[in-house]
Amino acid sequence: MAESSAGAAGHGVRDSASLRRALLAWYRRHRRLLPWRATRDPYRVWVSEVMLQQTQVATATPYYERFVARFPDVRSLARAPRARVLAAWAGLGYYRRARHLHEAAGIVVREHAGRVPSDPRAFATLPGVGRYTLGAVLSMGFGRPLPVLDGNVARVLARLAARPLSVKRPADAKRLWAMAEALLPRTGAGNWNQALMELGALVCTPRAPRCDACPVARHCRARARGLAEAIPAPAPRRAPVRVRRAVACVRRGGRLLMVRREGALLDGLWEPPGVELGRGEDAAPALARRLAELGVRARLTRTGRQVRHTITHRDIRVEVWEGRANGRAPGNTSRRRWIAPGRVEPALTALAARLLRDLRG
Ligand code: SF4
Repeated sequence: MAESSAGAAGHGVRDSASLRRALLAWYRRHRRLLPWRATRDPYRVWVSEVMLQQTQVATATPYYERFVARFPDVRSLARAPRARVLAAWAGLGYYRRARHLHEAAGIVVREHAGRVPSDPRAFATLPGVGRYTLGAVLSMGFGRPLPVLDGNVARVLARLAARPLSVKRPADAKRLWAMAEALLPRTGAGNWNQALMELGALVCTPRAPRCDACPVARHCRARARGLAEAIPAPAPRRAPVRVRRAVACVRRGGRLLMVRREGALLDGLWEPPGVELGRGEDAAPALARRLAELGVRARLTRTGRQVRHTITHRDIRVEVWEGRANGRAPGNTSRRRWIAPGRVEPALTALAARLLRDLRG
């Protein structure tokens, strides 16, 4: 049925039934055969969706395959020690995602008899579940009629309506969610959501969209107005921030001191204790203070080695210091550990893994 309520529905499409048919037919023929598409198991859909946030498909695919081989269901994930889960995630970044998934698996086992809840209210209360994950897992895993909105879907919707909306602006995101909701079919929401995302990934790409090959070109206002490439307006690029850091590789016998990082990016991973340095700040006293907080005394020497690495928009230069613990060094806690390099190691940050390679090297 053709809709005359393009304005009322808010998605700007005149004949949404015809658009859905065209897009779903294209999706059936052209979708990529990705490992998580071979299943409707909500747990596996959930793992894939969490991994795909902030990670490209090609990068996430081998991680997904290893992860579900190691933890094939919610119970095995819930049972696994945190360190094992983080080790399986190591290299994917944004480790808070893994921690939340692990915590959520524990809750699913304790409170939902090990079955991923299909009720949106119950699923939404699990750690790490935002509106996107809710819509993705419940639509693809259970066929619930819930929309998704990620960067790909937002771009497709903004272009279909020829509106310069950016998912990064809260007011625009609200409108885009409303558009996604208005376009959602009554049945088959999982396929529909994937079709929209796939169109954004393969055809309606950020730069040089392939409008000539687009199955919904005749419904697209941006194309009709020659605005496809201008929508959405490019977001201002975040300038890289330079950060100076120093780390202390402190040994005791054959063991090396590690501390657990906290925060969204490296949460739960281990690396030698370190400090961020202000402009012109001397590393030695700052590191001594950091070690004193940990109850460790050590005479530190500068190695002269500098390691450079980048995390999101942070360009980090790390001065490497070394030392031996003096006197009675404190034992292991949940935040501080003496590890034997080369033996059982906890999940490490990329920086720590590099430092260990150099130390062995
Ligand atoms: Fe995107 Fe072009 Fe298709 Fe419009 S016609 S949805 S801009 S690829």
